[in-house]
Amino acid sequence: LARIGVVVDELGERFEAAGHSLHLVGGPVRDAMLGRLQDDLDFTTSAHPDAVERLLKGWADAVWDIGRAFGTIGCRKGDWTIEITTFRSEAYSADSRKPEVAYGTDLAGDLGRRDFTVNAMAVSVPGRVFEDPFGGIGDLAHRVLRTPGRPEDSFSDDPLRMMRAARFAAQLGFDVAPEVVAAMTAMAERIDVISAERVRDELVKLVCAPYPRRGLALLVDTGLAARVLPELPALQLERDEHHRHKDVYEHSLTVLEQAMDLEERLAGPDGPGTPDFIVRFAALVHDIGKPRTRRFLEDGSVTFHHHDVVGAKMVRKRMKALRFSGEQIEAVSKLVELHLRFHGYGDGGWTDSAVRRYVRDAGDELQRLHILTRADCTTRNRRKAERLRRTYDDLERRIAELAEQEELDSMRPDLDGNQIMEVLGI
Ligand code: ATP
Ligand code: MG
Repeated sequence: LARIGVVVDELGERFEAAGHSLHLVGGPVRDAMLGRLQDDLDFTTSAHPDAVERLLKGWADAVWDIGRAFGTIGCRKGDWTIEITTFRSEAYSADSRKPEVAYGTDLAGDLGRRDFTVNAMAVSVPGRVFEDPFGGIGDLAHRVLRTPGRPEDSFSDDPLRMMRAARFAAQLGFDVAPEVVAAMTAMAERIDVISAERVRDELVKLVCAPYPRRGLALLVDTGLAARVLPELPALQLERDEHHRHKDVYEHSLTVLEQAMDLEERLAGPDGPGTPDFIVRFAALVHDIGKPRTRRFLEDGSVTFHHHDVVGAKMVRKRMKALRFSGEQIEAVSKLVELHLRFHGYGDGGWTDSAVRRYVRDAGDELQRLHILTRADCTTRNRRKAERLRRTYDDLERRIAELAEQEELDSMRPDLDGNQIMEVLGI
């Protein structure tokens, strides 16, 4: 709090002078305690949006009100991005897709409707009084996510909170309390009333988090994944040609983690860059065509289908349902479609034009395709993995050589030596 003290006290005094209370709340309080505070400050206040706007004008560097319908006024002050939201007490009815915003009258009510106890702590300003009615600080110390009230009531009010439990588990590396997991399991199908966009946003944050395996395991184990990304649990059922259980699901999580490692190594010494959702998600779903392809093969309805083509199609359909942008859909499906291509490469077995075609087909996704394909070079057979890796080294070397060659070609003059001598008369 030392770092944010000045700006927070200044703002608190402004609100106090106008007869309103102001409280730093939610994410920044939690993150400050964890020593990972970012540049975003969220506040809650007794003041209504018009009053908040007036108080911010003349103090902040810029003010915006795109969140006004939800009671939120935003501003920038120096490096800080600040959002101030009027006390709320909103609830979902079981079948409604939009939250009804109702203003509350006090901090206790506002904190009580928050998703998890670690997000339901506040610091009242000025004066910096720590408010923690639900024992968030203890849960933070034990690294566990609990709801302020009964989890069943909380998830009834807003089923998205079930997704948020998995997302925060992935971001913070926390456990989810057993009674919360039980409620998620019992109520998983309630997620269907939530809009695809809100589900998508939580999924993106989960996949881009430091511990995605933790969040994904929760989604799968509670049955939430079966509602929002059914292709993922389906991977657990995949069996190999001898009808032995073959854990494509476990493999997919491993490839995702390998892709994260590669991402970090490529980012270099400047530390981690922003996580790339596209390559991470592609790694997670790269094999989702497998179960379906296998089924086709077994019932003889088609003679042969590459799981890459089937997978790319399935990815497109799922991402469309989750309202991803056309650009994101194209990028991920292209990666899934191309991830097997290099297996036909062998040791230098491709002609130059085949290598060029690989580069051309990958287009803007070449760098990501390198990451995905290399991450996929994992198998329990270490000799095989090593061989795959060497093969890909060789392909990347050929790609670099060709690129260099093409650069030289483009520098070569249109006339050859003889023609130049002829033109110059020498
Ligand atoms: P980050 O911004 O880093 O993703 P955050 O904790 O700030 O994390 P937000 O989604 O920005 O998360 O939400 C801000 C705060 O608002 C949360 O800390 C939580 O207290 C509350 N909140 C947000 N969404 C919900 C919800 N669906 N139900 C209950 N409380 C919520
Ligand atoms: Mg936030």
